Formats: sequence, structure tokens, C-alpha cells
Amino acid sequence: MKCPFCGTEDTAVADTRLNDEGDVVRRRRKCNACDKRFTTYERAEIQLPQVAKKNGLRTEFSRTKLRASLELALRKRPVSIESVDAAVADIEEMLLSAGEREVSTQQLGELVMRELKKLDKVAYIRFASVYRNFEDVDAFSKAIREVSPKPAKK
Ligand SMILES: [Zn+2]
Repeated sequence: MKCPFCGTEDTAVADTRLNDEGDVVRRRRKCNACDKRFTTYERAEIQLPQVAKKNGLRTEFSRTKLRASLELALRKRPVSIESVDAAVADIEEMLLSAGEREVSTQQLGELVMRELKKLDKVAYIRFASVYRNFEDVDAFSKAIREVSPKPAKK
């Protein structure tokens, strides 16, 4: 580990500690060149699965896209931002706990539908009716945008 102050690679670990939850290792390090001290943290990398489309292409899971499609389905519906946040977190949680390296767009769509069903029936039907005919969330977003009324001009 390089010293963040002088850049030398000659540093040593002075102390290693685990946090109370046991999921973060904290190391106190000392630079042997400039004598300054610094701390590093080590935690397990949790990775969300890749999203596999029907055509075989894979993309990184995108929380932004997931959120956008939920928001689109929930447009003008009486659902709070907090509920949307919780739904997104729930979906991520399910993906993480499944521990798979890959999730299909179809599985992802089903997860979204499950959340929407709990949140708002209208949004659920909107999403389900459009999504089931599409292969991914992008196509869904586009379709919803096309059928949604344009904002009124002033
Ligand atoms: Zn140094």
C-alpha cells in the first residue's frame, strides 16, 4: 500500500482491527519514509448480477434504470419517493441474496412487477401490460413514454 502523503511503497501495518459487526477490517498503517500514519478499510465486495437479455447480450445491472422504470410506471400515482426507494432496495436485496452472477431481464421484470403490485395496482397493470410484450426494461420505458400524454404547453 502506497503512502498517500509521499507516495512511497514502504509502509507498514501498525494495527488491525475488526469493527463491531465484523464486516469491516480497519488497518492503521505507518509510512516508513515520511513517518505519517493513515488508515485503510477493507470490506467484502458485494456484486449485483449482470443482466442477460434475450438476445444473449449482458449489461451491468443499473439501479438508475431500474428506478427510472419504476418511476415511469408510477407516474402521477400517489406513491412516495420513500416507497420507490424501498422497492428498489428490496429488488437489489433479492438479487444479492440470490447470489447468482446473472439475472435475465425477464426475472428482473417479474421482480419489478412484484414490487409494483404491492405499491400501486394501476402502476402494476401499466407495467405488466406493457412489459410482458417487451424483452427489457429499456423497451418498456420507451413504450410508456410514447403512450404517455405529453406535458401541456404553456
Ligand atoms: Zn510517506
